[in-house]
Amino acid sequence: MYAKPDSTTLKARVAKAGDAMDAALKSLSYGMSDDERRMSAVGLQGMRGANDPGRPDLTPDIAPLPESAQRVPNEVALGRPSRQEAEAAVRTLLRWAGDDPTREGLIETPARVVKAYEQIFGGYRADADALLERVFEEVEGYSDAVLVRDIPFYSHCEHHMVPFMGLAHIAYYPTKGVVGLSKLARVVDAFARRLQTQETMTAQIADTIESILQPRGCAVMIEAEHLCMAMRGVQKAGVSTITTQFRGVYKNDASEQVRFLTFVRNQKG
Ligand SMILES: [Zn+2]
Repeated sequence: MYAKPDSTTLKARVAKAGDAMDAALKSLSYGMSDDERRMSAVGLQGMRGANDPGRPDLTPDIAPLPESAQRVPNEVALGRPSRQEAEAAVRTLLRWAGDDPTREGLIETPARVVKAYEQIFGGYRADADALLERVFEEVEGYSDAVLVRDIPFYSHCEHHMVPFMGLAHIAYYPTKGVVGLSKLARVVDAFARRLQTQETMTAQIADTIESILQPRGCAVMIEAEHLCMAMRGVQKAGVSTITTQFRGVYKNDASEQVRFLTFVRNQKG
């Protein structure tokens, strides 16, 4: 299950990752350009707590990541490989699959795959909170639930890096105003375009809506088909997995859940 780590846990995890990266960097840094070395140092500096005695101060003059980017784990930004390294990794996987990366049909494939990754994993660079920060307050006292149904998404399972895709349904009871409907779809994309589990993604969407819009309640339902189940393993196609998160009045009032589920189900073929 996904749980929002509190800041202490996060700091401890980050400090641990910092130590591991220190060791890794020591062994790797001979292969880095000056810029890369500098970037690694920035990442480490950002990851480590401010009071960390006994360590060399690497680049004290560079500011850590802005608060709004903190949802992207620092580990991701740290030590990001170059495009050439990423393309080389694709060539390795092509050889592992049993093909010849130098044959004509595959020669441009690593470049295309790496470019495609920029989009299908673009969620790591998206700031989901910021998407919901602009609300329309003039809704003439509208305080009933807002429900957006059938938001299509494409994601990749974090266990096999194989797609899973489906529909997200979101409802919330506005308190501060309503967001543009397309913004909810973009929040879904921000989390879908990462390596995911369906459960985590459902919780992350609910967390974001809850923390930014502070609604009286919020409900998120995702129904998805996992290609890793259809293509490999048990090989069952057409199986739909449903996950839900209920917050606020949706959590406390069963009739609100029924209303949400009825609305999601109605008008569907
Ligand atoms: Zn999988």
